[in-house]
Amino acid sequence: MQGTVLKVSPGNEREPRTIRLDQVVLTAKQFETVVANSLPVLFDRAGSQIKQFLRKTGQWRDDIAHEKFMLRWASEYIEQFLVYGRLKVPCRPFFLFDAFVARQHSQSEPFCYHPDLLTPLGTLIDGLLERTAVSRDALINLYFHCYGLLPGQVIAVLGLEGSQSQRIYKNFYRWRISGWQRTLKGLNITDNDLIALEQRKLREPAQFNSEVARLVRLAQKHYRKSEPAYYHCPSIAQWHEMFEQSFGHDYRIWHLALCMDCLLIAWDWNDLRTPSMDRPGVNFQIRP
Ligand SMILES: [Zn+2]
Repeated sequence: MQGTVLKVSPGNEREPRTIRLDQVVLTAKQFETVVANSLPVLFDRAGSQIKQFLRKTGQWRDDIAHEKFMLRWASEYIEQFLVYGRLKVPCRPFFLFDAFVARQHSQSEPFCYHPDLLTPLGTLIDGLLERTAVSRDALINLYFHCYGLLPGQVIAVLGLEGSQSQRIYKNFYRWRISGWQRTLKGLNITDNDLIALEQRKLREPAQFNSEVARLVRLAQKHYRKSEPAYYHCPSIAQWHEMFEQSFGHDYRIWHLALCMDCLLIAWDWNDLRTPSMDRPGVNFQIRP
């Protein structure tokens, strides 16, 4: 295994001692530190075990959608392991992690998903967000589906210019012509389901959008894990720096589509409050 190491100074020892992931950790604090320092190793480990499991059960395909799926679940395993493992000290984190993943895979539904996402509304939200892992058109149109933002507003909140802005219009156009329809075809959702959702939205808009907000947050957190490099929420100061110094365009486009809290930070920083543009709140659009 890779030699990810941690220096600790336990008890009355004067010299720092080095603990590796495959050695015994004695306290919850040591566990947290050694795991935090070994995330890439654990990520690889979880990823290869998930891939192996999916291959064995005939659920693996060599494509981006499956790679992203693997990344999301690896990330969820690590999150759960951080909570589980600190209760199991003293332990050897590396071996405990293997046992933890193996146990998840031996359950009848190892990748069981939140039951709320199985309703027609949940299926639609989940389907739209899942598509973002493989389609930039879907990603950009999330700003419209979740908040009702139009291309010009998306460009403003992301702070884009020139050819980057042109691409946003194309993303909207292609999604309206075919992307949305194609995404819907892969979902277990009927035309009657869509009509029922539209009627509910008209009848009780506030209640409808507050349920959407809850589901969107749940799904956003899950699908953000498709891109570990862009998962982390930057601080307000880091966002300001990104906009002021004009860098991190990919980070902005990807993260802000999948993080409501950061989107509001960007909106406020770009000072987009005008009589014609309110601060975005959830305003779910069922059709493009
Ligand atoms: Zn964020």
